[in-house]
Amino acid sequence: MKLLITGGAGFIGSNLILHLHEAYPDYHILNADKLTYASDLTYLKPLEKSTRYSFSKTDIVDRDAVRQLVRSFKPDGIIHLAAESHVDNSITGPEPFILTNVLGTFNLLEECRAFWNESGKDFGSFRFHHVSTDEVYGTLGDTGLFSETTPYAPNSPYSASKASSDFIVRSYHHTYGMNVVTTNCSNNYGPHQHDEKLIPVVIRTALNKKPIPVYGKGENIRDWLFVRDHCKAIDMVFHEGRSGETYNVGGRNEWKNIDLVRAICDELNELAANGPNGDYKNLITFVTDRPGHDLRYAIDATKLENELGWQNTQDFRRDLRETVNWYKVKYGF
Ligand code: NAD
Repeated sequence: MKLLITGGAGFIGSNLILHLHEAYPDYHILNADKLTYASDLTYLKPLEKSTRYSFSKTDIVDRDAVRQLVRSFKPDGIIHLAAESHVDNSITGPEPFILTNVLGTFNLLEECRAFWNESGKDFGSFRFHHVSTDEVYGTLGDTGLFSETTPYAPNSPYSASKASSDFIVRSYHHTYGMNVVTTNCSNNYGPHQHDEKLIPVVIRTALNKKPIPVYGKGENIRDWLFVRDHCKAIDMVFHEGRSGETYNVGGRNEWKNIDLVRAICDELNELAANGPNGDYKNLITFVTDRPGHDLRYAIDATKLENELGWQNTQDFRRDLRETVNWYKVKYGF
């Protein structure tokens, strides 16, 4: 199996490559990544000497580069994670989101379609796995869960760009018979996430004794999923998911932002016991809310559990502690 992974130098991609490299000793993995500010190849240093892993600096917005990539590597499958991923950045500057997430996904699909069609092998045997987000469904009220049949209602330029790419992927299955699967997952946490995201921000600012910014009153709810559980879900869906289907991946683990921030502070109080007045929670500061901030996301992962036997193995407090500890070391504390 020659497996092309896009965005493998990012948070989820680097965790996924480490997982797949270990789980499938007969796979060759090519990581194609533009290396934006959000990437960090040092996480893949353990694979530096591997003959089954290689890297290509490729911008998926560049159609010629994508063509060259696909035709030189000749992938049997693709797991597509490359994206602009930070909602706040999509509000201040949406253009790269439209280019990478929409046009970049189209470029990959189109170049794969052409190459796989010409390969002489059964077109349907090539797999294209698109990694997307629960944010495409918009926002929930106090109750209910997102399922695979929830209508799309994206609210931010980020989620709109992901929703657009989901639709394009879907169309390549229905129109051209391409063997595609899509996963829509909830908020991930764990090692390797970029410093700009909520959990790293909380840990870094707290350890530096700076105000910990919390949007609005911290009432927004997210369903947190440990990144390694997500990687196992991607592995399962890529290998066993039904072509043309989408699968939701979630942690059944809803936290109000303010409670999550408090839980991180509690971990820090134990791991780095010198918070101001004995408690890092004293640093929590409410700041002006994000425009159009979705209130609540929560995933119903029943389809993935029942059809493919996926199990969410996270123990939230244990995995949060591992995460907090990982960033504490990263930030030099
Ligand atoms: P990330 O921002 O950490 O990594 C994205 C990677 O994509 C980076 O390495 C970056 O260099 C690369 N990239 C960006 N633009 C590119 C381009 N034009 N060409 C090639 N590479 C490019 O993101 P992540 O958190 O690892 O997310 C991975 C995927 O999962 C994304 O598609 C995202 O939408 C989706 N997702 C993430 C979460 C989450 O909680 N992190 C939740 C739901 C869905």
